[in-house]
Amino acid sequence: MTDQYTFDNPVTRYQQSAPAAEMQQAPPGVEERITPTPDLGADTYRGSGRLTGRKALITGGDSGIGGAVAIAFAREGADVAISYLPIEEADAENIVALIEAEGRTAIAIPGDVMDAAHCRDLVRKAVDGLGGLDILVNNAGKQIAVESLEDISDEQFDETYKTNVYAMFHITKAALPHLKPGSTIINCSSIQAYAPSPNLVDYASTKAAINNFSKGLSQQLAPKGIRVNVVAPGPIWTPLQATGGQPAKDLPTLGEDTPLGRVGQAAELAPAFVFLASPESSYVIGETLNVNGGIPSP
Ligand code: NAD
Ligand code: MG
Repeated sequence: MTDQYTFDNPVTRYQQSAPAAEMQQAPPGVEERITPTPDLGADTYRGSGRLTGRKALITGGDSGIGGAVAIAFAREGADVAISYLPIEEADAENIVALIEAEGRTAIAIPGDVMDAAHCRDLVRKAVDGLGGLDILVNNAGKQIAVESLEDISDEQFDETYKTNVYAMFHITKAALPHLKPGSTIINCSSIQAYAPSPNLVDYASTKAAINNFSKGLSQQLAPKGIRVNVVAPGPIWTPLQATGGQPAKDLPTLGEDTPLGRVGQAAELAPAFVFLASPESSYVIGETLNVNGGIPSP
């Protein structure tokens, strides 16, 4: 069987997955209606006990990168809670079924992370459902491309910051009292944090904020035995990109300007999160793991 350990050429590993030319749905988008179907690793991720007995909360764990991380964590032996928007119920059910197929506990928690009260409720439900918490992945995100600053609505600016930055703050704050030494926090940033596209000024600046927040918090929490790290993806084929994250005309060539010459798949992100969640990265703190097809990064 092909899995993440199969030795092959990364240039041609996903040759068949050229994204389609049109924006496919309104955000946040349901994964099963994105074509070609993103690879979350359901048929390819092989676990080896690296997170046995761990308890993880993954925001935006219904689809894309968060969905791939949820599958991988379950296959590595973790129980997993996922958060998502109510409209994404079908995607969430798919991921829950995959987690349960591994014999692990799955907790599905719908709601809007722009709401601080929901963020606190989300952590409480995850802790109650899992019987504790020792991995937090802040992955939920909003990205809408707009050519000119004058056309970014006040609402979009607000929502992008609330989803990408405020939710990370509220969820992390609520989770901290539950995190014992050895626990890990992984925040999802982006190549956009240091190489902002001109049509993503609101989004890209939230990702710079996530990087900075993580570097500061990682130093604050290291003495307590809690490690904070970041994964910074490059262009990845997920619902976020196909629902306004890029102008529709740019979708077919998404990722072609990376040194690898292609868009990445969510399944290719999951091992980075597994590494940073696991004790095998015990001396790795405040690090940003770039998974971006080779785009130079600081
Ligand atoms: P995705 O659409 O599959 O995942 C984003 C998830 O965020 C959604 O599934 C949704 O559940 C959640 N979300 C959004 N708004 C929410 C809200 N108000 N309340 C609750 N949940 C909400 O897309 P993805 O690309 O896998 O995105 C995951 C993360 O990866 C995001 O932080 C994104 O910024 C980051 N990222 C993606 C790319 C890329 O090219 N796809 C590149 C760099 C970084
Ligand atoms: Mg989704």
